[in-house]
Amino acid sequence: MKEETFKKCVYVVLFLLIMLFYTKDIHFFGTHFYEHIKQIKEPNSISVLVNKNNQLAADYIPHDLEKISLDYANEEQYMRKEAKEHFERLSEDARKLGYQIIASSTYRSYTYQERLYHYYIETKGLEYADLCSARPGHSEHQTGLAIDVMGSNQDYDAFADSIEFPWMTENAYKYGFILRYPKGKENITGFKYEPWHYRYVGIKIAKIIHENNWTLEEYHTNKE
Ligand SMILES: [Zn+2]
Repeated sequence: MKEETFKKCVYVVLFLLIMLFYTKDIHFFGTHFYEHIKQIKEPNSISVLVNKNNQLAADYIPHDLEKISLDYANEEQYMRKEAKEHFERLSEDARKLGYQIIASSTYRSYTYQERLYHYYIETKGLEYADLCSARPGHSEHQTGLAIDVMGSNQDYDAFADSIEFPWMTENAYKYGFILRYPKGKENITGFKYEPWHYRYVGIKIAKIIHENNWTLEEYHTNKE
C-alpha cells in the first residue's frame, strides 16, 4: 500500500471512531424512555423532575394537598398548597381580563394513574398508552404540582384554540407555571405536545425556563 493511501485509511478510521464516540448517546424519539429508570429521592421539591426515566414511589402522596376553590375548578380538584394558591391567583387575574381558565385535572394518585394507563392499553394499545399517558409513578400529576386547564371553549383538549391560550402562553410563568410538554421538544420530554398541561415550579424557576425556552428536563441539565 502506498503511504498516501495508508494515511487516508488512517484518517477515515479515526473519523469513524470520533463519529461513533459522539453519537453513541444520541437516541431517537421513543427509544430511550423507560430504559434507565431512577427512583426520585426528593419528591417534595418544588422543581422535582418526574418523567419516563424518573419515577415516584407508589406510596408517595404530597403532604400539603389543598382543594382548589370551585370558582376556579370544574369539580373537586387538589394541588399542593403553594401551587394551588398561585393557580387561583392566575385564574382570578385572567378573569379580570375577561378570560376563564379553569382546573380540569390536577392531583392524581398512583392508583388512579395505574387505572388510567391500563384503560389506555386495553382500549388503544401499548404504543398509544405510552404516547398519551404515563405509566404509574411516572405521571407528574402525582406530584400535586401539575394541572390540566380548560379555557372558555370548555374543552381541555382544544385549549390551544381558546382565546385564553395566548394569554396563558405569555403570562403563566409570572405565576410560577410552565407549559410542560411543548411542541418540538417531544424527544426531550417523552410526551406529545400538550397545550393544556402546566406545571408549577415556582416563579423564579418558571422565569428562567420561560426566558431560555427550556423544558424542565433542560433546566435540570443546565442549572449546574
Ligand atoms: Zn396533564
